[in-house]
Amino acid sequence: MMSKNDEIAARLAHLHGAGLAKGDALAPPITVTSMYHLPGDPETGVPGYGRAENPTWEALEAQLSLIEDAPALAFPSGMAAISAALFATLKAGDRLVVPTDGYYTTRLLADRFLAKLGVTVETRPTLDMSAGGFDGVAVVFLESPSNPGLDLCDIAGLAQEVRAAGGVSIVDNTTMTPFGQRPLDLGADVVVASDTKAPSGASDVLMGHVASRNAGLMEEVAAWRKLAGVIPGPMEAWLLHRSLGTLPLRFARMCDTAALIAERLLAHPKVASVRYPGLEADPAHLMAKAQMTRFGFLIGLTLSDKDTAERFIQGCDMLASATSFGGTHSSAERRARWGDDVAEGFVRLSIGTEPVEALWSALEEALDAA
Ligand code: PLP
Repeated sequence: MMSKNDEIAARLAHLHGAGLAKGDALAPPITVTSMYHLPGDPETGVPGYGRAENPTWEALEAQLSLIEDAPALAFPSGMAAISAALFATLKAGDRLVVPTDGYYTTRLLADRFLAKLGVTVETRPTLDMSAGGFDGVAVVFLESPSNPGLDLCDIAGLAQEVRAAGGVSIVDNTTMTPFGQRPLDLGADVVVASDTKAPSGASDVLMGHVASRNAGLMEEVAAWRKLAGVIPGPMEAWLLHRSLGTLPLRFARMCDTAALIAERLLAHPKVASVRYPGLEADPAHLMAKAQMTRFGFLIGLTLSDKDTAERFIQGCDMLASATSFGGTHSSAERRARWGDDVAEGFVRLSIGTEPVEALWSALEEALDAA
């Protein structure tokens, strides 16, 4: 039987073409306009104003909805998508739980702005998200695998607990994409993602999206986008549309390569430890097998100290020394440089689409010399 991912990947390749009339461009047009011709009374389905509607977003959102298997809305960055999901679900007096070890900007946003509006912000480690239970908690934000530590939490179990307590679960699926993990199928209420990463893959655009099967919730997210004016540019939407066509292929190759590289890193004498959910020795492996369809393209490796890690990154000609991840080019950075709670020698390695043996030779050479 064909997997859900393969079925979606096949439909993705033909999605835009299916709605065309004879003579239409096969690629979606980039509609750059703030105004639409709008004589007489406004009509449903007829675009009225550029902050509310844009046909290039719609082409992109058709793709995002297909890959998420849920209605989806595009945003100009991952953080814009995360903000929309939080502002759409929280109100003064609510309690919000966010991971201590997830992407740090989500915590900053909550502490700096949501707290000021009367939301109580609590943090819990990804490994222990249910500590203290969910009674009286309005929104629980999960990130699995967490960035950068790559710890996992039981998405299905937590989503069920949160719902039973009357709350909403939001999962940041940036590190996996729907082709590696489907939080909505696991029972989560909302998925958010930074499409700046693997979905773009070209390191040339920032974008994000929110997806949910809860129609009322998506209505709030849409209203937030329109009223706050947090809208993607048509050019950025088009770039992401173009990239998404190759996401299944790129992601599969990146995961295949990461699996092999993780095994080899584990055996390298310079490497103190490796985190990769696909490794049998990884503490999260069993949970990963239960809830992920692929094990991803991010590897956490720890070298002895800061200087060794920097020599490794900067000495490798097949690693872009950059923050962010998910490009077709492999990249790496020491996360402690941003204050993440990881060892000074911890490197987040993002595996790209380079031929695996060429990549491994370059990594091995740089490790030997570090
Ligand atoms: N979520 C995760 C897990 C991330 O790693 C990032 C960015 O690094 C974001 C969200 C934010 O995405 P963006 O930079 O597109 O706003």
